[in-house]
This record gives sequence, C-alpha cells and structure tokens, in this order.
Amino acid sequence: MTIGIIGGGASGMAAALAAAEGREPQVVLLERQARVGRKLQATGNGRCNLTNLHAGQGGYQGEDPDFCRYALEAFGPEAALEWFRGLGLYTVAEDSGRVYPYSDQAGSVVDVLRFALEQPNITLRLGTEVEKIKKTGEGFLVSAAGETFCFDKLIVACGGLAGTKLGGSMSGYKLLRSLGHRCTRLRPALVQVKTDWPGISALKGVRANCRAQILRDGEIFSQSQGELQFTEFGLSGPVMFEISRDVCQGGGNWSCHLDFLPELAEETVKAELFRRKTTALPAGELFTGILHNRLGRVLTQAAGAALGGPIAALSGETLSRAAALSKGFEVPLTEPLGMDAAQVTAGGILTSEFDETTMESRLVPGLYACGEVLDIDGACGGYNLQWAWSSGRLAGLSAGREDV
Ligand SMILES: Cc1cc2nc3c(=O)[nH]c(=O)nc-3n(C[C@H](O)[C@H](O)[C@H](O)COP(=O)(O)OP(=O)(O)OC[C@H]3O[C@@H](n4cnc5c(N)ncnc54)[C@H](O)[C@@H]3O)c2cc1C
Repeated sequence: MTIGIIGGGASGMAAALAAAEGREPQVVLLERQARVGRKLQATGNGRCNLTNLHAGQGGYQGEDPDFCRYALEAFGPEAALEWFRGLGLYTVAEDSGRVYPYSDQAGSVVDVLRFALEQPNITLRLGTEVEKIKKTGEGFLVSAAGETFCFDKLIVACGGLAGTKLGGSMSGYKLLRSLGHRCTRLRPALVQVKTDWPGISALKGVRANCRAQILRDGEIFSQSQGELQFTEFGLSGPVMFEISRDVCQGGGNWSCHLDFLPELAEETVKAELFRRKTTALPAGELFTGILHNRLGRVLTQAAGAALGGPIAALSGETLSRAAALSKGFEVPLTEPLGMDAAQVTAGGILTSEFDETTMESRLVPGLYACGEVLDIDGACGGYNLQWAWSSGRLAGLSAGREDV
C-alpha cells in the first residue's frame, strides 16, 4: 500500500511516522519548501512551545470544537511527550503548562522529527508542490512539479493560511475543495490587534500584566488577565491573542479597557500616589516602582500632568485621575493584523465532513486531513502544535491500517 502525505509540517511529519508503523506501507511525504518543518522552526519565538500539559478539548475553537476530542484523548500532551522522548527529545514544562525543548531551540524539535523520517519505507520529496489531486477508482493521482504520483491513500496536511512568510497558504483548502469539501470563513487568530490611538508608539516594547476587558459599543465582549505587549501598531501578547479571532468583527466601536494593577484597589493606588506628593520626585517618576517607567509616564501625562515639574506641585485631582487611569485605561481597537502576522488560522475545512475517530473524509474514502487546514484553532501556549501531533498521528495510523 502507498500512502501520500501532502505537507511536511508538524502534522504531516507526525502522520508520516504513524503511517510508517503500519504493515509495510510505503509512505511518500511531499513538501513544497526546501526543507521540512519550516514553520515549526519559527514557533514559540524560536523556542517551539510544542505542547501544553493542559491541552484538552476545552482549549479549541471552530464550528464544532468537539471534533478534536477523540484525537486529543487518544494522543494527548503526555503521550506526545513520551513519543518525543522516544525520538530523543528532552523537554521542560513551565508552571503554566507550556512545554519547550530542553535545548530551548525549535530546531531540536525539527531535527528529531527529520531524523526519525529517515526510514526505508518513508520517501521525502522536498521542493515538490502538489497542484492537483484526482480521485481514481483505486486511489489518487497527485500532480506535483511536473510529476504524477499514484497513491492508495492520501493525507492532506498542508496547514493553514496563517504565517504566510513561513509557508502558510491557501493550497490545502483549494486541494480539499477540489475534492468536494467545503471551507468556513478564514480569519487570522493569535495575532496582535491594531489601534489608531496616537500614543501607542511611545509604549512600543512595553510589557504589562493586566486585566483586559474588550468592549464593543461600550458593552463587555470578553475579558481576560495576563501579559500584554505594546507594539508599534497595537496590542499584542497572550491577553490580546486569546480574543483576536473574534475582535473587530461585524461592525461597532471596539476598545480595550486595561487595568494595569488588577491586584490593587484604586484607593490603595491613590493613597500611594498621594504619599509621593511629600517626596522631591519629578512628576515623570509618579509611577516609578509600580509600573514600567514609560507606561507610568504615559498615564501621568494622560492625567493632565506636565512631566517636568515635581509631584508635589500636582493637584489632588490630577493624582486621583492618574490612579483611576492605572486601573482603567481605554485604548480604541481597529482591526487584527493580517494572516502574515497571525500564528493560526481561525476557520478551515468543515470538520463535519470528516470522521473524528479516523480523520478520514466522509465524502472521499481513502482521503484524510489533519492539522490547521481543518476548522480547529487552539489557544495560545502549545495548543495548536498539540492539535497537529494528535490529528496527524490519528490520520497516519488510520491510513496505515490495511482494513480502513
Ligand atoms: C510565528 C508562529 C509561531 C507559532 N508558535 C507556536 C507555538 O509556539 N506553539 C504552538 O502550539 N503553535 C504555534 N504556532 C502554530 C503552529 O505552528 C501551527 O498551528 C502548526 O504548525 C500547524 O501544523 P500543520 O502541519 O497543520 O501546518 P504546517 O506546520 O504549516 O505545515 C504545512 C506544510 O505543508 C506544506 N504545503 C502546503 N501546501 C503544500 C502543497 N500544495 N504541496 C506540498 N507541500 C505543501 C507547507 O510548506 C508546510 O511545510 C505558531 C505559528 C506561527 C506562524
């Protein structure tokens, strides 16, 4: 039996290794880029957050998030880590549950997978972009780079549109649509959100732990707590990533209400700022020791204070306003950044057209799909790669079984 796999990314490599465990199948992995795991190499800021110990069905979205339950239960984070350990990868888990390679290098993850693929029954074809798939009575004819491949079974593991510079493309969606599958609306997720607030550039690079409320026309749309990062154009970091797939959709005025001191009552902050009135410090140091210096200065100015003069000269009203702003600073939001900057694609090929216990198409027998091309997107923190390992392995094992 020959099994073709389109895409040598996270899910495709997991699928190839699982398929090769079956009874003597010949596995051919087709990758359009010059090497496998190009996106994987860039994940987690080059560290690769390869899974999350808490990755369960609750951390995923899509039209039917329940679709991923079977694959995650069959091959969850613990199983994935054991599998990686077997491939020679040492890992370390943070308190948050995020798991990284012990080397802190994403390249280590790519390397152990790359070396594991070196098996007699796995053929790797790099620089081979699949353009067309034809279903025949016996299997599939796959056209790529002027060649035609013939497979009994086929796994589409082309990934999503996110991270276009790292290989994200429409290819997988187009190939699956050509075989009759439907695709939901695609949009960027786990991405920073832009603002037209002119003060943003002064805060570029500042990180803050905060509670964030996303408001749509003044009504609370969602809220979360964690790290926020200011960028040149907007707001980033886990707090924004979580809501980025849904923010600024469907009209309305969107803004973010930020509490930079969620653990402190406003009265406590106010009392501390009033105490500083008795010091000789300049107004620019009003929040020194409490908040990031640059953030403190932006809040002080927003409260109406000139930074040059002493804190002692600030009115009680200005100090109260500064305290209030540290507990509730509103930043308008315009739109999420595009697919280029996104870590994952929200939306994808309809999961209702696949069997969640095998990842096989309900429309085309012998066809499988896995990873980001399907309409499943995970939370920030290792959830998306876990989905790639779980779904890829399930697709590979199912395709590798003679009786499927
Ligand atoms: C910058 C960045 C950082 C990220 N960090 C993390 C993180 O730390 N943790 C986490 O869990 N997730 C992270 N993600 C998300 C995660 O990388 C993806 O969800 C995951 O790689 C998806 O796996 P996949 O196999 O579906 O797709 P991919 O890994 O994208 O692989 C798809 C492969 O298919 C190939 N391909 C596509 N079309 C064709 C074709 N027609 N013919 C041949 N080959 C084709 C592509 O070249 C690619 O190599 C990050 C994403 C980005 C962009």
